[in-house]
Amino acid sequence: MGTEVDEEYLDACPLCKGRRLDDYLESNGRSIVQCKNCGLLFVNPRPGQAAIRKLFLNEYIESEERVSEHFTDWRHDSLKREAALVQELLPAGGRLLDLGTASGAFLGFFCGQDHWHVEGIEPSAYAARSASERYGVPVHPGFLQDRQYPDNSFDVVTSLDAFMFHPQPQEDLAEIARILRPGGLLAVEIPGLRFRLLKNSGLLCRLIYGAPARLNAGVHLFYYSRETLGRLMAQHGMREELGVPERSPLHGSTVFRLLSKSYYAVASAAYRITSGASWVPVPKEFLIYRKETS
Ligand SMILES: [Zn+2]
Repeated sequence: MGTEVDEEYLDACPLCKGRRLDDYLESNGRSIVQCKNCGLLFVNPRPGQAAIRKLFLNEYIESEERVSEHFTDWRHDSLKREAALVQELLPAGGRLLDLGTASGAFLGFFCGQDHWHVEGIEPSAYAARSASERYGVPVHPGFLQDRQYPDNSFDVVTSLDAFMFHPQPQEDLAEIARILRPGGLLAVEIPGLRFRLLKNSGLLCRLIYGAPARLNAGVHLFYYSRETLGRLMAQHGMREELGVPERSPLHGSTVFRLLSKSYYAVASAAYRITSGASWVPVPKEFLIYRKETS
C-alpha cells in the first residue's frame, strides 16, 4: 500500500484546460481552487483515484439506516418530482440508466410502467443489492466505465445529486454521450452553488456551524454552477433544455422542516421568475440536457 498515490494534483482546469488556478477557500483541510478562465470551482489537490473508488465502493453508503433515511425518506419529494418530469418529457417511455442509484427510490417511481425499462449503476455493492431487492430493477454494482454498453443504448441517463463526486467528468460525459441515443436526455441534479456557498462558507457558516467552511471537500470534488456545467455538457454535444429548482433533503424537527419548506417556496419562486438567475440561492437544481441529433 505504501506505493499507492494518495493525492492527485490537477495542473489544469478539467473544463477549459486553463492553468491559472487561484485559491478560493479552504474546507475540511482541503483547498478549493477557482479557474480564472472559466470560473469552475474544484478541490485541488484531491484524494487519489484509488481512495475515491474505495470511498464509494465501501464506505459512502454502508447501512440500512442511511439507505432508508438519507436516500429515501429525506429525498422522497424531490425524487418523485424529478421522475414525473422525465416521464412528462418522454411520454412514450424508453430505456433509462441512473448513475449513482443510492437507495433506488428514484427508479421505484418507474416500477409497474411497462413502457419504461430502467436500470442503475451504484458503486456501493450494499446499496446496489438493497435497491435491486426493494424495487425489482437491475442495479449493477460498480462504475459506468465497467459496463461497456453499446452505442445509443439509452433514451435517458440520470445523475441525481451525484455528478460532483465524479473525478473524471470529461471521460464520464464522453461515455454518457456515446451510450445516449441522438435526441436523448441527460438529467442531472446538482447542489445549488450560490446556496451552498452562502450556507456552508462565510459568515453564516461561522454562525451556524462554528467553522469557516463546511463544503465536504474531498468527498465533493467539483462545485458546479448551471453555467460551468452547461459549458462542460456543450463540449459533449449536449444542450440545456430545462432547469428547475429543487429542495434540500427534508429532515429534522417540525420547526426545521417548516423553515426549510418556507425557504424553498420563496427561493424556487425567485428562481422561476428570473429564469434561474445564478444569484438566486436554491438548494438544488435539476437540469435537463438533450444530446444533439447531428
Ligand atoms: Zn477553466
